[in-house]
Amino acid sequence: DPRISKISSAIRVIPNFPKPGIMFQDITTLLLDTKAFRDTIDLFVERYRGKDISVVAGIEARGFIFGPPIALAIGAKFVPMRKPNKLPGEVISEEYSLEYGTDKIEMHVGAVQAGERSLIIDDLIATGGTLCAAIRLLERVGVHVVECACVIELPELKGRERLGDKPLFVLVSST
Ligand code: IMP
Repeated sequence: DPRISKISSAIRVIPNFPKPGIMFQDITTLLLDTKAFRDTIDLFVERYRGKDISVVAGIEARGFIFGPPIALAIGAKFVPMRKPNKLPGEVISEEYSLEYGTDKIEMHVGAVQAGERSLIIDDLIATGGTLCAAIRLLERVGVHVVECACVIELPELKGRERLGDKPLFVLVSST
């Protein structure tokens, strides 16, 4: 698809952020390019429209940028999956391991119902730990996770393998 290369070039790479040795994939420059931003949303919408998806679950923080326009376009609700202690209502949470220590994501109780079909969206998959936790959280409440979608994949970190047989759709692979 000719749109992909434009999306790829609109993503800026910032070396040594947030710490030395990390090549940070910065999607804020993609958001400044109105054509590439629209194409990004359209590519996801084209893939998920008509797939009977009633939930788009977006991962804090950049899943909150891409998720809502996709949800509106396919007629699904948007459910934020947040960092700990941000959601005001009753939550269920799922822990996951980081390089050092653990982190958690949370979702409001009652936001989704057993039997619903969900897409999970984030800007980027690295090790896949975050997406795996999001899948577990939704599956614990009986939601079927149809697919995970990201703008960028860092294939060297093998996040796709960590997802097992859960399908992953990405627009750009970054080496
Ligand atoms: P994972 O859990 O190792 O797959 O890390 C993915 C999470 O870290 C996502 O929520 C991303 O937003 C964030 N992340 C990791 N590296 C980058 C990056 O280079 N740019 C933007 N986000 C990143």
